[in-house]
Amino acid sequence: MSTLYVVATPIGNLSDLTSRAIEMLSSVPVVAAEDTRVAKKLLSHIEATPQLESLHGHTSPNRLAQIVQLLDEGDMAVVTDAGTPGISDPGSSLVQAAVKAGHDVTPLPGPSAAVTALSITGWSFDRFLFIGFLPRKKNEQLATLQDAAREPGPVVVYESPHRIKTTLKNIDDALPERQLVICRELTKLFEETFRGTAPEALAHFEEPRGEFVLVIEGAGASKPVEVSDQEIQQTLESIRSEGVGGRTLVDRAIEITGASRKRVYRLSLGK
Ligand code: SAM
Repeated sequence: MSTLYVVATPIGNLSDLTSRAIEMLSSVPVVAAEDTRVAKKLLSHIEATPQLESLHGHTSPNRLAQIVQLLDEGDMAVVTDAGTPGISDPGSSLVQAAVKAGHDVTPLPGPSAAVTALSITGWSFDRFLFIGFLPRKKNEQLATLQDAAREPGPVVVYESPHRIKTTLKNIDDALPERQLVICRELTKLFEETFRGTAPEALAHFEEPRGEFVLVIEGAGASKPVEVSDQEIQQTLESIRSEGVGGRTLVDRAIEITGASRKRVYRLSLGK
């Protein structure tokens, strides 16, 4: 059995390529790449010359089988155009095929646009919702965003410059007043971070260019800080009336009120 090495690559700044990634890409005989032209630029930067196999967005089962046949003969690495393979890109199709064929899969971690953007929000959270690319049809996009409006943690969306204005309008409809952190061209020359609401972002990005990550403040953050004991008790009562008790009762009341676990737990015991 061989090993498929899943190698994260920079999202813009070549200096973000890890030394482990350089060693791996310089030593494996074959590299499967989302787009071989993009991979060639990266590989020539590190003077590596592996055999390149293309793994386009809609890789056919036959093509995947051909690549897995090569993997049967020896170790291979997979890279996508930017960031961590498998995160909103075709990397996952090869990983799935390799696992199915009984090969080992080993990750070489590195940049990902989603986590890079989350790291500079400055918001305190212990969970987040990664959506990646939203559905393109307006009603499907709105439904996805309305679902996401309940998420307590930040919501991460990838977007193209052509669709970002429409998406911002839909965010304003489904999640009005939410703070956004919008990262444009992360790690690149024209890197920019915008902080504000969707209408402010629409005014700011008149002619959007480049690659974007949108991070939407979670529902937890927009709850009133000083919810009263009475409001928490009412929330607990209403959840209890649905037959919910124990830890789930407390969890749901925290989600709705944004109050601390200690406080909700105490009030759930009638103290
Ligand atoms: N696998 C990648 C990752 O780990 O981030 C994501 C691949 S997805 C096909 C490409 C999208 O990621 C872009 O449309 C954009 O939304 C986001 N992205 C990638 N690089 C970026 C950058 N330098 N700045 C902002 N967004 C970026």
